Amino acid sequence: MKASAEVLLRVKRLCRRYGAVDAVDDVSFEVFRGEFFSLLGPSGCGKSTTLRLLAGLEEPDSGEIRLKGEVVVSDRDRIFVSAEERHIGLVFQSYAVWPHMTVFQNVAYPLEVRRWKRPEIRRKAEQVLGLVGLTGLENRRPAELSGGQQQRLALGRSLVYEPDLLLLDEPLSNVDAKLREQLRIELKKLQQSIGITIVYVTHDQSEAMALSHRLAVMNRGRIEQIGRPEEVYKAPGTFFVQSFVGRLITFEGRLAERSSQRFVELPGERAIAVRDSRAIPNDSHVCLAVRPEDIEIETGEGAPGAQALPGKVQDVAYVGGHYECAIEAAGSEFVLDMPASVRLARGQAVTLHLKETTLWPR
Ligand code: ADP
Ligand code: MG
Repeated sequence: MKASAEVLLRVKRLCRRYGAVDAVDDVSFEVFRGEFFSLLGPSGCGKSTTLRLLAGLEEPDSGEIRLKGEVVVSDRDRIFVSAEERHIGLVFQSYAVWPHMTVFQNVAYPLEVRRWKRPEIRRKAEQVLGLVGLTGLENRRPAELSGGQQQRLALGRSLVYEPDLLLLDEPLSNVDAKLREQLRIELKKLQQSIGITIVYVTHDQSEAMALSHRLAVMNRGRIEQIGRPEEVYKAPGTFFVQSFVGRLITFEGRLAERSSQRFVELPGERAIAVRDSRAIPNDSHVCLAVRPEDIEIETGEGAPGAQALPGKVQDVAYVGGHYECAIEAAGSEFVLDMPASVRLARGQAVTLHLKETTLWPR
């Protein structure tokens, strides 16, 4: 997004508590017009609550939400604009389309409610059904559609009155894996072609990475990091972010220093040299984290080095196209993908070269 881009949605210090649970805890972010922005985090971290607060289905304990510069919620100014007046589209995981209406009627209805004229309704409904790939199915009822088609219909119905903002809460989680990938591509195309602003909620990191311009990683009601997918993956601000976004292999050890070189001492009298600027004091308990793609495997006991770790193959499984290898090294057990050309056997000794590591306090 360009720096000059218009901020469409601004969320400031939003809080929502349920009893003793801080469902949404001091959440702030902004979304630019035309942006695909995701809230990513594990189940229960507060994504849906945040979305319901944006939609106006829920009132925050404190904080402020602005839409196109206008305050729609503010505890301080006692403002609460109702859901209907916010002009926001919504699609939930289990968003039921109206079963007694045809495909066409489902899409036309929101416009009838808004008192559009008949020819305009027809034109707009046809256009939107084309966008979501349902042309030709106008007279079917939802029961005569596949799961994916029903979800596209829900999407079409939420798009038809051209909302400023579209909120999607895990819209693909009820469709099977193959269809999910296809719908993901379609959704991205659709967003690009109509340029609508989307706030998307998911617990699936690859989905968030593939779709979003930027994403916010949430944990226990809080946002831990906001950034582009590459930023969040390559420069994680916290251990939680690094371990939630993408695969991560970790080793537990102690930080030591010898002749101004810092090492992590791992179980089995092994030490890995680290050059990390994080201000962690010597002698602390630490976690050494490595992405699988930053590990190079050599068979046998390779030359010892400051970045090398001996390991042992625990198990090998063929999963089609490549092997999955369970490996034990320095007190950790983890799985690495190996190309079919590398033949490893159970019990075999290997050497792991850690090309890039991150250090976290424990
Ligand atoms: P997510 O969508 O990320 O899975 P939610 O926003 O649904 O998370 O929930 C966040 C936390 O708030 C959870 O601990 C959940 O149990 C709690 N919570 C959500 N809605 C309610 C509610 N209506 N009453 C009580 N607790 C709730
Ligand atoms: Mg949820």
